[in-house]
This record gives sequence, C-alpha cells and structure tokens, in this order.
Amino acid sequence: MTRLSKMHRRVNRAVKGPDVSHSPVSEWRAARDHIQALEELEFSEEMKALKGKRAGNCNVTACQRPHAYFYNNVTNAYYCLDCAIDIRPSGLNCDPPFDLFPGFETQAEELRVALNYTPERMRKILPPKYRKLYPD
Ligand SMILES: [Zn+2]
Repeated sequence: MTRLSKMHRRVNRAVKGPDVSHSPVSEWRAARDHIQALEELEFSEEMKALKGKRAGNCNVTACQRPHAYFYNNVTNAYYCLDCAIDIRPSGLNCDPPFDLFPGFETQAEELRVALNYTPERMRKILPPKYRKLYPD
C-alpha cells in the first residue's frame, strides 16, 4: 500500500465516524478509534503539509479530503467542493453579502479538469443552484 493511499484510508476512517452498529463495548471502541483517527489526521506531518493547500487537502480538520481547489479569502486556505458549498452561504446571506469564495466558478472548472470529469458529470455532483455553471 502506498503512503498516500494509507493516508486516505485514515482520512476515510476519520471522516466516516464511529461504527455504532454493535454492542456498547464495540460502540465505545469505535468512538475511541474515531477520536484517535482524528487526532492522527490533525497532527501527522504529511497531513499538516497538505491541509488547506491548493490541490492539497480540505482545510476543515474533520474533512481533509483531497482536491482542495476552493480558496477562502478570509481563512487564506483551500477547501474541498462540499465544504466550500457548505461554508459559502454564511457570507452570501450576510447584509451586505460577501463572497468567502470569490473564485468559486473558476476553481470549479479547475477541479473538473483535475478530476478529468465531463461537464455532465460536474452537473451531477453540484447542488441545483450551481448547475448553471454547466448548462445542458
Ligand atoms: Zn472538505
């Protein structure tokens, strides 16, 4: 297993959260493993080097998924598509509104190229209000 895939396995374990489908003891163990996975993610040198960097991992500690292309000009860090979409309304809904991700549209296209997705596939992964970026 490569160093990178091992790291992404840890990311998935941390993001997925505890498996609470069994006994109280295994529930407790799953919760403990989850906390440990999050701590490992946060403090490992490899994750620190990639967190919040362009095309690195998402700046949200509990996320840290790869393909962070969305620049937040307040935190000065990069986020994954899903986190950028989650965070963006907090500025857009202010009075006056401000865009935390002013390069969103350009960066969505950078993500599409990086993932080698077709415009149709981008349409499918975006929430309805963003689908106008990739018209039929
Ligand atoms: Zn994220």
